[in-house]
Amino acid sequence: PPDVEVLGRSTWTFLHTLTASYPPTASPTQQTEMRQFLSLFSKLYPCWVCAEDFQQWMKREGNEPRVRGRGELGRWMCEAHNEVNRKLGKSEFDCERWEERWRTGWAD
Ligand code: FAD
Repeated sequence: PPDVEVLGRSTWTFLHTLTASYPPTASPTQQTEMRQFLSLFSKLYPCWVCAEDFQQWMKREGNEPRVRGRGELGRWMCEAHNEVNRKLGKSEFDCERWEERWRTGWAD
């Protein structure tokens, strides 16, 4: 079976990088495509317990993907990742800094 940690690290790199390349303001088509991608991703992610919990979290009130543009999608992705961090007892990431980590690089 795939190594859940290696898979997770690589997948978060992909997801945050994907978010970093999302336009500041997304067109209706881009918004639809991102919603569809996240919906399918959450069904197909090849760690079945992870996928099941992630889908449940996404369905809860207030946790629906926010796809109007990079700023809010980045914040949403960070919150999604923090939800998994909490579940696994890892420390939470400061979502004010997601863009420094994944797009612009740290200031220092
Ligand atoms: P990761 O959590 O993989 O993070 C990688 C890097 O991202 C960190 O070093 C940090 O620089 C940065 N980062 C951390 N938090 C954030 C954030 N909130 N926003 C932006 N950047 C951040 N594992 C399980 O054991 N059980 C599960 O149920 C489970 N569910 C998962 C669901 C999904 C959708 C994904 C993608 C992964 C899941 N994983 C799960 C894997 C888990 O999240 C970790 O990837 C894995 O434990 C390795 O953790 P890590 O400490 O190397 O850092």
